Amino acid sequence: MNDKIDVLVIGAGPSGTIAAAMIRKAGFNVCIVEKEKFPRFVIGESLLPRCMEALEEAGLLEALKKKKFQEKFGAKFIKGDLVCDFNFSDQHTKGWKWTWQMPRADFDNTLAEEVQKMGVTINFETAVTAIEFRNDSSDSITTVVDKSGKERKIEARFIVDASGYGRVIPRLFNLDKPSNLPPRKTMFAHIADDDRNQYEEPNRIIIISHKPEVWIWGIPFSNGNTSVGYVGNKNFFEGFKGSNTEQFFSMIDETPSLKKRFANKELRFEPRTIEGWSMSTEKFYGNRFVLTGNVTEFLDPIFSSGVTLATVSSQTASKLVVRQLNGEVIDWEKEYMAPVMQGVNTFRSYVMGWYDGFLQDIFFSDQTNPAFKNQICSVLAGYVWDTSNPFVKKHDTILKNLAKVIKFGEEIS
Ligand SMILES: Cc1cc2nc3c(=O)[nH]c(=O)nc-3n(C[C@H](O)[C@H](O)[C@H](O)COP(=O)(O)OP(=O)(O)OC[C@H]3O[C@@H](n4cnc5c(N)ncnc54)[C@H](O)[C@@H]3O)c2cc1C
Repeated sequence: MNDKIDVLVIGAGPSGTIAAAMIRKAGFNVCIVEKEKFPRFVIGESLLPRCMEALEEAGLLEALKKKKFQEKFGAKFIKGDLVCDFNFSDQHTKGWKWTWQMPRADFDNTLAEEVQKMGVTINFETAVTAIEFRNDSSDSITTVVDKSGKERKIEARFIVDASGYGRVIPRLFNLDKPSNLPPRKTMFAHIADDDRNQYEEPNRIIIISHKPEVWIWGIPFSNGNTSVGYVGNKNFFEGFKGSNTEQFFSMIDETPSLKKRFANKELRFEPRTIEGWSMSTEKFYGNRFVLTGNVTEFLDPIFSSGVTLATVSSQTASKLVVRQLNGEVIDWEKEYMAPVMQGVNTFRSYVMGWYDGFLQDIFFSDQTNPAFKNQICSVLAGYVWDTSNPFVKKHDTILKNLAKVIKFGEEIS
């Protein structure tokens, strides 16, 4: 006989656990199927303050506070001798002024443990292989396979696909859509950085504009390690030879601001690479399913927006799932797809502005008006749904206009 549940969540990343917690709190029975054994590695180690609201509403914040992760109060952008420091406490939107940066294995495992305490079942090392939405029934039937190869079927009234890079429903139902961003590559590692001092400011992410279209992240953790990653086009990486470790240290060697700090430090693992992460999806919902988190659209890591979009999309979707299960008819286009796209498209303007260079003209100018900087700071804190902020509402034009004013003295229209 098939297992019968109210809601099946695919994936136990932050998107899946937030959705599971919120739907479980509303009284429904929820099961997560997760392909990996936890704790497992995933990239995405620096959060934005807006995601704290989602974690709080899902009842997951207190367990995370006990972990003593590195607190993050801002983001510092560096280009040669130029520095642009954003402090979340200066942001225009009233909201959270801090968040965390941490190894995701520990963060995601804490969330998974917590939702299990709330009564959510998690089947680890179990992957979804097929889903059937039957016309003659209101339920869906999902086929899952565990690590021993044993197959079973789960009947669910609703499915939340939070499978991240697994993209389960888009792949099974041909909903994948190429992103409008060019493919990029990263090489990253965790470096022993335990003699860092306050000058290195562990309480913020540093982003170094290294070369045209190449940038570096530095994300200090409270465990004494710092995550360092190079992001760029393939050509940049082709310039380095040898093992990943040799290539990584050659990159450090040619980065003056990192060389002294990291040149002879121990790597916690052989540097890893990822390529071509930007992907989009035709539609984020269907009759008995919703896509949340990375499955919807993932842009680029430059502004650490991934986990925030993952958690806020789940926060929004799970309330709609609960209303639908309680018999309401939901306008998913208006109540879900539109707000998620509002957030994604706002970040898209900033991502494109960064790579095109005009956002960097704004960041590294000494003429940027402090009020504008605080409004931009709100976007970088993840408050991309606050349309009282002109840098959210007019995201597609305002940055280009401001860059022109800074460069050529033209008026903002
Ligand atoms: C280079 C790089 C750097 C990044 N840096 C940041 C950053 O600093 N800050 C930030 O916020 N974001 C960052 N991101 C983005 C971040 O990785 C994602 O946005 C985030 O992990 C999305 O969370 P999620 O819950 O949607 O998916 P995930 O965290 O990927 O979780 C999905 C889960 O689903 C499981 N799964 C997949 N397929 C199946 C299946 N068939 N059956 C069952 N389970 C399945 C997976 O095992 C996984 O555990 C970065 C991304 C890249 C590429």
